[in-house]
Amino acid sequence: MAKRDYYDILGVSRNANEDEIKKAYRKLAIKYHPDKNPDDKDAEEKFKEAAEAYDALSNPEKKQRYDQFGHAGMGGAGGGGFNMDDIFSQFGDIFGDTDFFGSFFGGQGGRRGGGPRRKPGSNIRIRIKLTLAEMRHGVEKKVKYRRMIEPEGVLYSDCKNCGGTGSVRKTTNTFLGQMATTAPCQVCQGMGRTITSKPREANEQGLVAQEFETTIKIPCGVAEGMQLSVNGQGNSGPGGGPSGDLIVLIEQIEHEELQRDGNHVIYTLWLSFPEAALGASVEVPTLDGAAKIKIESGTQPGKVLRLKGKGFPDLNGYGSGDQLIHVQVYVPTNLSSEEKNQLLKLQDSKNFKPEEKDKSFFDRVKDMF
Ligand SMILES: [Zn+2]
Repeated sequence: MAKRDYYDILGVSRNANEDEIKKAYRKLAIKYHPDKNPDDKDAEEKFKEAAEAYDALSNPEKKQRYDQFGHAGMGGAGGGGFNMDDIFSQFGDIFGDTDFFGSFFGGQGGRRGGGPRRKPGSNIRIRIKLTLAEMRHGVEKKVKYRRMIEPEGVLYSDCKNCGGTGSVRKTTNTFLGQMATTAPCQVCQGMGRTITSKPREANEQGLVAQEFETTIKIPCGVAEGMQLSVNGQGNSGPGGGPSGDLIVLIEQIEHEELQRDGNHVIYTLWLSFPEAALGASVEVPTLDGAAKIKIESGTQPGKVLRLKGKGFPDLNGYGSGDQLIHVQVYVPTNLSSEEKNQLLKLQDSKNFKPEEKDKSFFDRVKDMF
């Protein structure tokens, strides 16, 4: 069966704006809602069809693809892939905060798993300072922080105002006629139960602050400014709700000699003039300790040497950065008269004159910068 055009399904023109599309869908959703059309296969199909059309046309990116390529542009993702639960969970709240389907149809076909809502606890943010070496290798860090938890001895009973459902119903007159709406119970804040007894130190949500210690596994490759989220290690939710998360902000402890640039480690190596001219074996710091490297004779300032894989591993597993060694040559400023005399002798040597440099010089230096 050929698919119907999404605009035809919703009965709107191709120039319809967001608001018109939403209104059209809302009308169809009410008309074909399964609670109004029990055991009506045709209505169910129309209900799904409208949801699929709305899904495509309410999303600017999908709409653009549909306008350009038609159903072929939908990549088959829409094709019959909608079940009722998807529709309710995706579009149940398109009309604002009120549970549109749930309230209009008395909650029957509305959001699945309604009933009392357990509010999640709030997140806790902490900072962890890491050295570059810890970022390179990964590390486990013990952290201590204060966390709100529910102590022993907090007792609840069902909320009398809402009978434990967490919501109260009332009938209101609207432009659609009389509607039964549900709203969160004000007495229990939608939780469906109230505290009947608690230890003296607990606050009115039945929580106490407690010192908490945990070990956080930091993966290798993290960087300054990244945030790790540890599920369920935040504050407990009031009334037995799920805990929030512990959010760990990564901060970098500066290294005395090494800098970080993305996944690379940067080091500036100062050579004396004789070392650069004659070649040398020198030690450079790395995040794994000192490493010996060989300096070729005739090494120019600006040359970049590379220690492969000595940088930071990519967080997504795409290899590893390098350590880049930027070579500088130190020009002495405090010479004895004897040293000056030695240099004066060299001054006239053609090997010391930049203008006499051999032809391959530019080739050698051009990729150093
Ligand atoms: Zn209540």
